[in-house]
Amino acid sequence: MGGTEMTGPLDGLVAIVTGGASGLGAAIAQRLHDDGARIAVLDRDTTHADEKFAAFTADVSDRTSVEAAIAAVGAQFGRIDIVVNNAGIGAQGDIAANDDDEWARVLSINVTGIARVTAAALPWLRQSPAAAICNTASIAATTGLPQRALYSASKGAVAALTRAMATDHLREGIRVNSVNPGTADTPWVGRLLDSATDPAAERAALAARQPHGRLVSPDEVAGAVAYLVSPASGSTTGTFIEVDGGMASLR
Ligand code: NAD
Repeated sequence: MGGTEMTGPLDGLVAIVTGGASGLGAAIAQRLHDDGARIAVLDRDTTHADEKFAAFTADVSDRTSVEAAIAAVGAQFGRIDIVVNNAGIGAQGDIAANDDDEWARVLSINVTGIARVTAAALPWLRQSPAAAICNTASIAATTGLPQRALYSASKGAVAALTRAMATDHLREGIRVNSVNPGTADTPWVGRLLDSATDPAAERAALAARQPHGRLVSPDEVAGAVAYLVSPASGSTTGTFIEVDGGMASLR
């Protein structure tokens, strides 16, 4: 490019991606980087985080570690413009399948984790001219998935929290939306498939159950996130984009 700097929609902005060391978070980090943002990956396990990104080890269920990590990001970059609250864990079974400790653990990571991270980043976001937050919910937020009671409760709460945060911070110029993926091809889903007797057959069956006949690609989710945190979506807040091959619309 003859020495000319590439320009992207997120040039000059700093983005935190929680759960950014794996799966959807890793794809989101890469996409926001490609769009010009400087990236801070925040993950409880940064061992396999992409080395080109600054990595901060923190557990979103632990307020002390979250506050230390956000302070470290602020100190290193001098600004925080975008927060992608993507870290999350799964839970299987009906309402009787998980004990109180597991309910508390999943809700603490999937729901309260968003509040902890965002609250710690708020003083920085308030100073940004382009502040945007994207939470990773799920089609479980809006549709009845069998044997996913606790997980669905957590993601329904993410949808409600997204609207509440959007309302509370509207006048401060901070936009808040969510991306709601269907079944996506990530290490998480890989681990579930690996526990099947015939992982290849199970993968084919899982793909066939999707309306578009395949798993969602992490890059497709990352593309929706990139839009929701970019100036292109400047009038969009308190809502979501489903990236699910049409699954939610069929229910
Ligand atoms: P993944 O397991 O591949 O990656 C999750 C990442 O989050 C990991 O790097 C993990 O270390 C990190 N993480 C987990 N708990 C954490 C904690 N307490 N503190 C900090 N980091 C933590 O999973 P994925 O499939 O990429 O899922 C990412 C998000 O997408 C989750 O919120 C999940 O609920 C959501 N989601 C996934 C799918 C799917 O099919 N994969 C579908 C809908 C929604």
